[in-house]
Amino acid sequence: MAARILDGKSLAAKVRAAVKRDVEALAQRGIRPGLAVILAGDNPASRVYVRNKVRACEETGVRSEMYELPANVSEEALIDRVLALNDDSDIHGILVQLPLPKQIHADRVLESVAPAKDVDGFHESNLGALLAGKPRMVPCTPAGVMRLLDHAGVAIAGAHAVVIGRSNIVGKPLSLLLLQRDATVTICHSKSKDLENIARSADILVAAVGRAKLVTGRMVKPGACVIDVGVNRLTDGSLAGDVEFASASEVAGWITPVPGGVGPMTIAMLLENCLRAASASH
Ligand code: NAP
Repeated sequence: MAARILDGKSLAAKVRAAVKRDVEALAQRGIRPGLAVILAGDNPASRVYVRNKVRACEETGVRSEMYELPANVSEEALIDRVLALNDDSDIHGILVQLPLPKQIHADRVLESVAPAKDVDGFHESNLGALLAGKPRMVPCTPAGVMRLLDHAGVAIAGAHAVVIGRSNIVGKPLSLLLLQRDATVTICHSKSKDLENIARSADILVAAVGRAKLVTGRMVKPGACVIDVGVNRLTDGSLAGDVEFASASEVAGWITPVPGGVGPMTIAMLLENCLRAASASH
């Protein structure tokens, strides 16, 4: 039986519409959420991501400011820009697009963002709050995955969730969110042995690796919910996830497409975080 599609594109449109209504309500109180986006260097994929985020801001009434810095920008100059934005009361959210140029320590830059304006949820204090079970700013991609699961009514409590990938921005925070909702969570990574069997025991299987078609239908338990976070550019220029959609969707109960699954939800959650930051600042 073919899997049901978890349609991130349409759910994200609903979230954006709700954000737009809330932005209008905030405007009645004289507050306009403002997001600053910093793009350092000329990574073409980053440019596309930033453009999509800025477009989503415009659509929902969130004011956005773009700061484009050259690829050879110094770490000090980049951090100075962040610090100035920390002090700008019209800016409620600061997003530093990753990856950063090689000469820059991304963790130092991310730590310079005021936690209250850290709409990406990457600051150690926000990640720590999540670990402590008191989430504040939650990273957007994991938050988007949880919203997709909830919208589809996928049972999380008691489910075995297998998350492939342990990055600080996707795999780890998503594992914590699933744990908080009483899933039994297994985290896999590049050194994990027997990935195929572990994956096949998952009720909820998340691939957040960055390797096209790593997960095939053979690795999916019949009826499982498969979440594909990966975004991979193939040699023919097309986009593919980490999951081989054709074989996995034959076995899974639910599956996210790429594109149109997790990606749009990430941006929708960013807008929600901006809104929350703006509301909290007043
Ligand atoms: P990352 O920082 O490169 O982390 C990749 C993770 O995958 C690491 O934990 C790595 O293990 C693990 N891994 C690598 N090869 C593996 C293998 N053969 N088997 C099992 N695990 C393996 O990547 P990320 O930033 O988390 O992003 C992951 C993917 O999601 C990328 O394709 C990215 O483009 C995409 N992404 C999409 C969105 C969206 O909105 N849709 C947002 C963010 C990221 P080690 O820790 O052992 O190295």
